[in-house]
Amino acid sequence: MIYLDNHATTRVDPRVVDAMLPFFLEAYGNAGSVGHAFGETASEAVEQSRAAIAAGIGAEPREIVFTSGATEGNNLAIRGVAERTRRRGNHLVSVQTEHQAVLGPLARLAKRDCEVTLLEVEHHSSAPASDRAGWLDPQKVADALRDDTVLVSVMLANNEIGVIQPLTEIGTICRERGVLLHCDATQAVGKIPVDVQQLRVDLMSFSAHKIYGPKGVGALYVRRRDPIVRLEPLIIGGGQEAGRRSGTLNTPGIVGFAAALDLCMAELPAEAQRQADLRDKLWAGLRQQIENLQLCGPKLDASSRLPGNLNVSFGDVDGEALQMAMNGLAVSSGASCASTDPGPSHVLLALGMNEDQARSSLRFGLGRFNNEDEIERASGIVARAIQKLRKIASD
Ligand SMILES: *Cc1c(COP(=O)(O)O)cnc(C)c1O
Repeated sequence: MIYLDNHATTRVDPRVVDAMLPFFLEAYGNAGSVGHAFGETASEAVEQSRAAIAAGIGAEPREIVFTSGATEGNNLAIRGVAERTRRRGNHLVSVQTEHQAVLGPLARLAKRDCEVTLLEVEHHSSAPASDRAGWLDPQKVADALRDDTVLVSVMLANNEIGVIQPLTEIGTICRERGVLLHCDATQAVGKIPVDVQQLRVDLMSFSAHKIYGPKGVGALYVRRRDPIVRLEPLIIGGGQEAGRRSGTLNTPGIVGFAAALDLCMAELPAEAQRQADLRDKLWAGLRQQIENLQLCGPKLDASSRLPGNLNVSFGDVDGEALQMAMNGLAVSSGASCASTDPGPSHVLLALGMNEDQARSSLRFGLGRFNNEDEIERASGIVARAIQKLRKIASD
């Protein structure tokens, strides 16, 4: 089985497992119980991990709040800020192509007393010359800001089409207008350089299981300087994480998260180049063997798109049928990107693609453990499945 669904989740790196094991079996104390050696050891490990993760994104340790993942981080950022700033305004700005973990909390707020503007991205039809399909023009953000806008939320790299958004420009605009900027950087951290100062973001969510760490642990960066960001906690109890997120800390998970990020940072940018080369090879192989296919999203270059991302529409075949017809290849289909939403991908529709085009797409997410042999075999598996389905359709 060839695994090309690394945007959904990744295999935990064995080196990460090794780093975690002692915190299950020996140093299993509660990081909040610092009255004895067990708790002391756990607490030290958590603080070392916090410092390492902060350093990985250009932040300070006290600006890191550990969460259960990026979904919780996005919820805490968006709902936490909206609740805290209600008196100042209730307008929020985001983008049509965001992850459901951003769109969901925004929809909930819109149902209550908030107003949400979802910006459009460049369409396939309007962007062929610049090849910027999926890109958010920062001017659109500038035009959407109002006196009662309290938060803008824009992802750094898209989980379906890999498009990288111009966060620095958007951050500059938000800062000039005194509006907070949240960024879902789950697909970007560990894969491209991410620095909260350079990006000018005030809040940023990310997650361990997308970068070869364990599931169920993530972090929210919350700026503590110029400006101090205040938010209302979602989970209240023991007051951990300076009251911003209560609950016993997941020590093994946090240690694994830090180890995973350290490995990514050490292997970037060589690993990014390796994955981009494999991705380009996959695209070339598909084009060679299959007629009538379309690249979804922006051009395949390092500043426009994540190195390990490829998204292709096959016109006349259904992505789910295609998934079923492929033996030995794990990828995602544009017909089933969200487990709760059976319709075609909202991201591909936002690019101006029609429902059939969106339904006939496959998302390939390459990762650390993929090699050249797998990539060669993968394009053959896709090509054979498409030939079979097209033959059935024409018989
Ligand atoms: C996977 C993903 C999430 C959700 O992260 P979890 O840690 O699984 O909650 C949010 N945003 C993006 C862009 C993602 O790719």
